[in-house]
Amino acid sequence: MPVALKMSSVYAPTLKEDPSEAEVASHRLLLRAGMIRKVAAGIYTFLPLAWRSIRKIEQIVREEMDAIGSQEMLMPIVQPAELWEQSGRWELYGPELARLKDRAGRDFCLGPTHEEIITDAVRGEVRSYRDLPLSLYQINMKFRDEARPRFGLLRGREFIMKDAYSFHADETSLQEHYDDMAQAYGRICDRLGLAWRPVVAESGQIGGKVTTEFMALAESGEAALVYCDCGYAANVEAAETVVPRTPSVTEPRAIERVHTPDIRTIAELATFLAIAEHDTVKTMAGKTPEGRLVFLCVPGDRELNPIKAEWAVPGLELLDEEDFESFGIPKGSLGPVAPPAGTLVVADVSLKRDVSWGIGANENDYHFIGAMPARDFAVELWADLVLAQPGDGCPTCGGTLKGTRGIEVSQVFQLGTRYSETMGATFADEAGVEQPFQMGCYGVGVTRSLAAVIEQYSDENGIAWPVSVAPLEVAVLPLTVGDEMVAPVTERIWRACATAGIEVVIDDRDERAGVKFADADLIGWPYQILVGNKGVAEGTVEVKTRGTGERTSVAIVDAARHVAALVGAERARLTR
Ligand code: ATP
Ligand code: MG
Repeated sequence: MPVALKMSSVYAPTLKEDPSEAEVASHRLLLRAGMIRKVAAGIYTFLPLAWRSIRKIEQIVREEMDAIGSQEMLMPIVQPAELWEQSGRWELYGPELARLKDRAGRDFCLGPTHEEIITDAVRGEVRSYRDLPLSLYQINMKFRDEARPRFGLLRGREFIMKDAYSFHADETSLQEHYDDMAQAYGRICDRLGLAWRPVVAESGQIGGKVTTEFMALAESGEAALVYCDCGYAANVEAAETVVPRTPSVTEPRAIERVHTPDIRTIAELATFLAIAEHDTVKTMAGKTPEGRLVFLCVPGDRELNPIKAEWAVPGLELLDEEDFESFGIPKGSLGPVAPPAGTLVVADVSLKRDVSWGIGANENDYHFIGAMPARDFAVELWADLVLAQPGDGCPTCGGTLKGTRGIEVSQVFQLGTRYSETMGATFADEAGVEQPFQMGCYGVGVTRSLAAVIEQYSDENGIAWPVSVAPLEVAVLPLTVGDEMVAPVTERIWRACATAGIEVVIDDRDERAGVKFADADLIGWPYQILVGNKGVAEGTVEVKTRGTGERTSVAIVDAARHVAALVGAERARLTR
């Protein structure tokens, strides 16, 4: 079916001014181009042009899933609490899980992800190793009551995700499908035209260990990444790091207790003690699930990575105000010297060789300088605790890490038996023994991908879509309204484009050329055919490429063919 639309009947209420609530390009431009409207915080209506683009993204995702043998299905958004109780996540999932009751008072939630439902759909039905592996996916709305919905479609509360789940008899089979998924995810990013990078990631709420995130590179991205020329790349949340340290003091000195009134920050402390910031040591406090106090020491000029701290001390929770009171410790002046009895002292490995720590004295307004491990205090556990940053050493090759930012558009996980065990989903193996499924789960943020594309494909005038995601590929703009020559030429080119299999819109509105130019660039039609009376008199039109701004004069008779060739080349480049 040829797609030939008229701008006069396309519902795309464009805005002249930048909406004040939008902080990032994609949010601003989706609103301005009349593609989305906000309904509530993090909840949007997708207007026709956005929906066209979303369907294209979905189709790309669908083709790539089908190509690796995953089967499409659809699961409910409203999910009964019982299933979440079986997996244990009714308790574990925080306030992001939107819970509700039906009229009979039964508990439900709005699905933020579908591990429980899919595990339930498969258990008891898939009984033998002969039926494995099995891979299923859906494209559906998700709801997460995000603490800070923002940046438009980048972090919504209601958003579209493609989520796939796979079931395997053993880890080898899981690894194979995981690799296929990762390949497919790379192809999806390529077909969307994204500049992207796979990174080592943290597995978060979902559980499991082996995981990769696919990051669309963008300054506006919420994820800080580090990468190395050797190919190592990680979300700083998960990045191992080699902290380069050259302590200024290399000889042990006597420990000295110093009165440090009104010192609040590490910078103030360093100035006061006349030592470098990196010679100070910060101590953060947490507690184990059993309630044991934990001190976490990191170099004063570095940040603790709470995720790594939890890797070092499973179940660790950082203290809140109340905890500080009940442990009776001073928040601003903690240190490993003479901590409360029973404290577990953990320190970042980079501090191991430091012989002179400037550190809190566990008493308000007092610090120690010259504190030396082993001599003055004991460290029970040395661990990698620090948030990685550019300039650190690469954990794989020892090179220097660089920094960039990214938008997580998708992620693949190996769940192992996290859900099959808790939910009793088993199959009979070759020996007839019941085994829990090895599972994987794989998510693509469809609406987030749309926004990520705009973050990479936009300029001060608007969006500059890659052909694969553009709501339509070509626009024909008659620049003089009511001109006897221009109108029929524009119409003819419009029809010829449709016949050539291009998605085309004609801007038939009774508007000035300036308005049409501005809207065409704002909405971002990849190719624009500009039809003016002067050109028509000479038998030519101009073809403009939105991305580069390049304009070429083309004979009227060749216009559709010319544009079809351009579109065709882009389609081919963006296909696998
Ligand atoms: P984030 O760390 O950004 O909160 P996540 O890791 O919790 O995301 P996943 O559970 O991995 O998200 O979900 C799979 C995909 O769904 C993500 O890679 C992302 O593209 C998309 N997604 C997740 N949360 C949102 C959201 N609030 N708004 C839009 N898309 C989202
Ligand atoms: Mg994720």
